[in-house]
Amino acid sequence: MKDLLPIIGLEIHIELKTQSKMFCRCDNNATGKKANTVVCPICLGHPGTLPSLNKQSVHYGLLLAQALNFKINQVSFFARKNYFYPDLPKGYQITQSDTPLGSQGYLTINGHQIAIERLHLEEDTGKLIHEANSNHSLVDYNRAGTPLIELVTYPIITSAVEACRFCQELQKILRYLNISNANMEQGEMRLEANISLQKKDAFDFVGPTLKVRPGHQLNHKVEVKNLNSFKALERAINYEIERQRQILDNGAMVVAETRGWDETKNVTVSQRRKETATEYRYFSEPDLPPLYIDDAWLLEIKQELDKIELPGAKAERWQKDYGWSADQADLLSTYSGSAAYSDELLTIIHQANPENYQEIARLAGNWLTSEVLKYCSLKDLSSNPITPRHLADLSMALANKTITSTNGQVVLQKIVENNKLSVAEIVEQLDLKQVDDSQEIIKLAREIIAQYPEQVAAYRAGKLALLQFFIGQIMRRSKGKANPELAREILEKELKN
Ligand SMILES: [Zn+2]
Repeated sequence: MKDLLPIIGLEIHIELKTQSKMFCRCDNNATGKKANTVVCPICLGHPGTLPSLNKQSVHYGLLLAQALNFKINQVSFFARKNYFYPDLPKGYQITQSDTPLGSQGYLTINGHQIAIERLHLEEDTGKLIHEANSNHSLVDYNRAGTPLIELVTYPIITSAVEACRFCQELQKILRYLNISNANMEQGEMRLEANISLQKKDAFDFVGPTLKVRPGHQLNHKVEVKNLNSFKALERAINYEIERQRQILDNGAMVVAETRGWDETKNVTVSQRRKETATEYRYFSEPDLPPLYIDDAWLLEIKQELDKIELPGAKAERWQKDYGWSADQADLLSTYSGSAAYSDELLTIIHQANPENYQEIARLAGNWLTSEVLKYCSLKDLSSNPITPRHLADLSMALANKTITSTNGQVVLQKIVENNKLSVAEIVEQLDLKQVDDSQEIIKLAREIIAQYPEQVAAYRAGKLALLQFFIGQIMRRSKGKANPELAREILEKELKN
């Protein structure tokens, strides 16, 4: 059926890297600590204990809410979400229900606004550890009470690619704001997707929400959990689109349920019927007062955000001001470290070349993504031996034709071996300065012509592609220093004779 449109919404949980947990003073960093050692009566939910809210977690929530254009609810409430599961020591989770911290936000992806319904704060659960070949499971409560932000988008995304782009951009923002490490493999950013297929003539988008047309019915949606990577998200969405399409093509109904992603088999598998809100018996958390956010706090958040250029804005500026491609800008803005490296590089180039900085910046961008990243990962760019100063000097030397691009690679290699040397020192030491002396190149050209009479005859008989062979010979004899354009010109002239 060609008239079916995928309708996708995302639910994203983000672990905040606050110092202490959300409602107690336990250390929020349990990395490398023994199970059940970072716990206290409050996060274990012992009777008679009272939670008190961690201000830093609210501050982080407000930072993200403002960065994503949310309307901040200056009075919000906490609620209890009741369910039984062994990793939930209290038997309920403290979350926000009717009044989240933020409502109606959005994130712009490729010029398209993805509307986000809500942003709320809640606490994380513990972890169950299922040991292979044993008849029991273990539980670790170190994570219980870690502050989380939950984001819920409107069902407004229409492809797996767009869903991934949204999550990748969000991950960058979380890292720029420094409120979460957002490593998916560590569970610091966890994704769930709601997926359905709808007939195009069965509904209209009213703002970001789906409104069913009279006489039509919407198909059920499926929620997919256990998405531990962007790749898993993309594959699971595409798998569900295909699975649901087949069901609907056969005239059957898609069952509303929760499914898990099986990483090894690349399929989604049914887990359970979706619980409805009433089954969680939400009610106001009696142990916490309403959360008031005053104007002064919002102003403080705004001032803090004004100092941070977010990845989308940064990538756009690089493209506009320095002629970088969208892909380059997107890649280099991934980590705050790679972004800082790029900014420093561009600043040096801009200041040293107020007239023609764009041309050099483009060259530097190409060398950065194609050559420098051969020596280090994007994540480690800021600590790699080739500093922004080195790359800026190298790009300027290439643009001014002080050295050829062949020898540019020799310079990079040398910097990696010893980054105490400047580009100028390396060019000097290795005698890499480009040869622009036409007499010297003419001499080389004549030697080569004398040495390869067969190739010369073939060239003169019309095999013009051999010119590249002769240029290669000149580059070899000049140890990569001959100006290649000049070499071409001279060879064309000499070969005519
Ligand atoms: Zn605790």
